[in-house]
Amino acid sequence: MIKVHHLNCVEIRSPGNGRAIGHCLLLEAGSRLILVDAGIGLKDTKNPDSRIGQHLINIVGFKFNEDWTAVRQIQRLGLDPGNVTDCVVSHLDPDHIGGLVDFPNAIVHVGLEEYEHFQNDNPRYLQHQLGHLPPIKTYANTSETWCGLEARKIAVSETEIYLIPLFGHTLGHCGVALKSETDWLFYVGDAYYLKEELTDPDHPVHTLAEIRADDNRLRIDSLNKVRRFRIENPHINVFAYHDASEYVTFL
Ligand SMILES: [Zn+2]
Repeated sequence: MIKVHHLNCVEIRSPGNGRAIGHCLLLEAGSRLILVDAGIGLKDTKNPDSRIGQHLINIVGFKFNEDWTAVRQIQRLGLDPGNVTDCVVSHLDPDHIGGLVDFPNAIVHVGLEEYEHFQNDNPRYLQHQLGHLPPIKTYANTSETWCGLEARKIAVSETEIYLIPLFGHTLGHCGVALKSETDWLFYVGDAYYLKEELTDPDHPVHTLAEIRADDNRLRIDSLNKVRRFRIENPHINVFAYHDASEYVTFL
């Protein structure tokens, strides 16, 4: 059975939308560690301009501090970052994969569509974030389901982890469903930024979500899937990457 640690590896002070974070998961399975999304990494904090770019930093409102990186948090937990063997990523946006380079030998698990769009030079991605050439395992669509949603089983033996397609934010964006020591968790990545998007049709953050979506129609379909899922599965904890109020409920 695995132990789940919740790590915040991003700090954003958005000019229009207040504070946002980067809610990553660290799964402890014996001595082996699995990271779900990687946040801002050490290299980003040391050279933000060359790694992320001042333009993007200004628009988004990224803040940098070495102590917030996954690798430093893993060390503070008394664990060895060298034991991170796998990183499961929701998508390949800069604030989700900057930390991958801190775990250079870890296998990166990603949806096939997402990796293909990364390789096709979609300008939203930073190619150098995979410049360390990690081993990459991609997952194509399957007929398998989890709680009624399409599910792609991640190739790790210690526990059940699935990529759950929630396309739209990016063309291959996926949530991650995983079995913790006590229950199932459904991490939905950037399917929404703030949980108010699920309930408040007039919240200003919808505008940002629409602007950042590679396919807005698909994004809205995915948001509706998450809304339905929450109603039909009230016992499963659903949370997104950037919502600070959800993060604190796990601490
Ligand atoms: Zn994001």
